[in-house]
Amino acid sequence: MTVSHPPGPQGQHPAVWVTQAYPPVLQAALARHGGLPASVRQLVLHELHHRTPAELRERIERRWYARFSHLPAGEIADRADEIALDLAAAPACLDPRCEDGWQLDADHGCPRCRQRLVNTNALPLDGEPASTATAAAAVASIRRTILLSRTATHAHQSKADQRRQPPSPQSTRVS
Ligand SMILES: [Zn+2]
Repeated sequence: MTVSHPPGPQGQHPAVWVTQAYPPVLQAALARHGGLPASVRQLVLHELHHRTPAELRERIERRWYARFSHLPAGEIADRADEIALDLAAAPACLDPRCEDGWQLDADHGCPRCRQRLVNTNALPLDGEPASTATAAAAVASIRRTILLSRTATHAHQSKADQRRQPPSPQSTRVS
């Protein structure tokens, strides 16, 4: 199986960079269980055929906040393998560009997921579509939170970059 994505910022394999998005509490629990399960690594390698490493990291962060971050540490430790799989797993929607109710290319909600939510409300069969819809409803606000934290990090980094670089010629040029 080949993955054509570039390595992570520290030169990691893309799959390694993706799994580094797991929160520290989960990574510690996985380490106590003997490390990242082979099933999780295979899942991430498979998902890299459908998403970029950055998109998979965002999936992991978003689902963590939406589904698991409120759980007690003991439960996270007990369910570590299952949670690791859940965070990286392919979305339930049949639309390949739907990311938990969000259309990646169009940047708006997924009509298929909305329709499924309507059907589910009319005739509840099981909990899965409802939980997917709940996650979809949280997507927008969680995306904002993640983007804001990234923006703050980038602002910090670009200030550091400016300190390392001489002033740009444009700023001193007189027209
Ligand atoms: Zn969808």
